[in-house]
Amino acid sequence: MTTDAHLARLEAALDDLRRELDRLRTQRRLPMRQTHRCSACGGGRVLNITILADMTSGVSSVPLSLVKEHPLFGTKHLGPLEAFVCRSCMLVELHASDLDGIAPDGKTVIEHEAPAEPAPESTPYR
Ligand SMILES: [Zn+2]
Repeated sequence: MTTDAHLARLEAALDDLRRELDRLRTQRRLPMRQTHRCSACGGGRVLNITILADMTSGVSSVPLSLVKEHPLFGTKHLGPLEAFVCRSCMLVELHASDLDGIAPDGKTVIEHEAPAEPAPESTPYR
């Protein structure tokens, strides 16, 4: 193999690697809730458990939720949880059905915001 041919093969391999890197960098792991496909094993059979029951004093069940508030009477369950379970590998994803009434308080509910991602043109691989 000539040096030029060898160099051409290396450049082609490098282009393939760049394309694969771009694909992996831009591909987001989508939740089972959205795809109905397991992100770990690729299984296509997913159970959606819409209410996760939690027991109270062993006699009644309440929905498992992110936050419980105790006003003067009763208990408020905020951010009820639902689960998506892969039938193949049994991976479980938990999601809040809604966040109504939940506000950051800096103690038990803390909000984080990710920094903006750099524009693709600014990566060292281009
Ligand atoms: Zn799975």
